[in-house]
Formats: sequence, structure tokens, C-alpha cells
Amino acid sequence: MRLVTLGTGTVALSATRVCAGHYVEAGEVKLLLDCGSGVTHRLAEHQVPWRAITHLAITHFHTDHIGDIATLAFAWKYGDRPGRSEPLSIIGPTGTAALLERQAEAFGDWLRDPGFPIAILEMDAGGALDLGGGTMLRAAKVPHTEESIAYSIERGGRRIVYTGDTGYDPMVAEWARGADVLLCECSLPTDMAIVTHLTPEQCGALAAAALPKHLVLTHFYPPVERVDIRALVAAHYAGPITLADDGSTFEIEEG
Ligand SMILES: [Zn+2]
Ligand SMILES: [Zn+2]
Repeated sequence: MRLVTLGTGTVALSATRVCAGHYVEAGEVKLLLDCGSGVTHRLAEHQVPWRAITHLAITHFHTDHIGDIATLAFAWKYGDRPGRSEPLSIIGPTGTAALLERQAEAFGDWLRDPGFPIAILEMDAGGALDLGGGTMLRAAKVPHTEESIAYSIERGGRRIVYTGDTGYDPMVAEWARGADVLLCECSLPTDMAIVTHLTPEQCGALAAAALPKHLVLTHFYPPVERVDIRALVAAHYAGPITLADDGSTFEIEEG
């Protein structure tokens, strides 16, 4: 599998980090995880095969995770001649169909029927979805918003876990245990901590319990970058740590 962290920022505007979005290629599956504002630009910048994306999975409904969905759909419809014809699956928690319906009311009927088939698949926490070609997607509940879920992408004995936005919860660590890559949000320094996001210390505690082979951190609000994130995490977790940038690429060899 291949992971590209396209958007490692948040709702806080940043010159170097766009809102949340990550690309996973797993065999024939080309999966975009979240699609916040700026992610469409990064898709082009990093030569991601955006025309061929097969699945879009959103973790929750905050604008920094969904802001570019209509932009991407508009690019698929009008960004090339001829426009996209291949089907697309949009996956998300309960409420995703209603969210897309509200977007269509705002942006226009074309979003319901953009010229290619869209399947909307709502996943419950604990649910699993066969994406085809030997790739499985699983969801787990995380404490952030009522609908928020984390995702696990599994293929060939390897596993990528993406927390989306989350607060600290030992159940999330348990669910993520042994992941090859744990792509984990790392939002705020301890002096700004809130229960719906993680601090570097909490990322370290989560990783110490989950023991991923590689901890990849994302979703940095600007204030957290003023502390020594790596040292604070490493005080708890001894494994490899990467602070992702927009465009960082990770290859996960299949077992
Ligand atoms: Zn966010
Ligand atoms: Zn959020």
C-alpha cells in the first residue's frame, strides 16, 4: 500500500499545511480519506491519480475535512473533456447521505448526478466494507463529534489506521493495536488541550498502547508546532515517529 499525506493542517489557516486529506493506494483501490479545503490542489501538486480515485471516505462533517468534496466532484465533471464516467463510492458515518444532499442544495443538482454513478455508503462504528481486490475498510467510533469515526485499511496482511480527529480514548488504542502505520492527529499543545483533540503527550500514550510499527502524526494546529512534538511523543513511545508534511509518502510493503 502507499499512503500520501496530502493535507496535514486543520481549520487554522496555514501557509504550508492545507486542511485534512490523505490518499491510500491499495491494489486497484484508490482511496481518498477526507477532502478538506486545499486537498484538491495537493492532489495535482503531488501527481496523485485523482481522476482514477475509486473511493472517498470521510471521518466526520467538520468543514476542514469535507470542504473540497464539491470542488473535486466539479473537477471530475468539468475539469477534463470528456468528464469522468467511472463510478465512485462515497463512504462516511451515518448522516453522510444527508450531508451530500445539503451540499447538492447549495451547489446544484449536478452534484447528485455529476455524469458518473455515485454510491453513498454509510458505515457504523464497528462496521466493515470490502472495497474489492482484497482490500478491507473498517470503522471505529472516536470521541470528537457525535458522528466521528476512524478508519482501518487492510490489505495483504498490512494495516493503516487513520484516527481522523479524536480525543484520547484507550479504546482507540486497543482498536489500532499493531497497525503498520498509525496516522494519528496531533492537534494542540498541552496548555491548549481540549477533550476532542490530542496533544503530543496523548499521541505518545496512544502509541505506547497501540504499538504501531510506524507512528505518523498529522493535523497540526500552528501552536503545537511551537513545542518539541517529537520529544514529547518519544517520552512515551519508543518506535519510529514521523511528523508528516503535505506530500509525505509512505510505502507499506505487503506481507
Ligand atoms: Zn479537523
Ligand atoms: Zn474535526
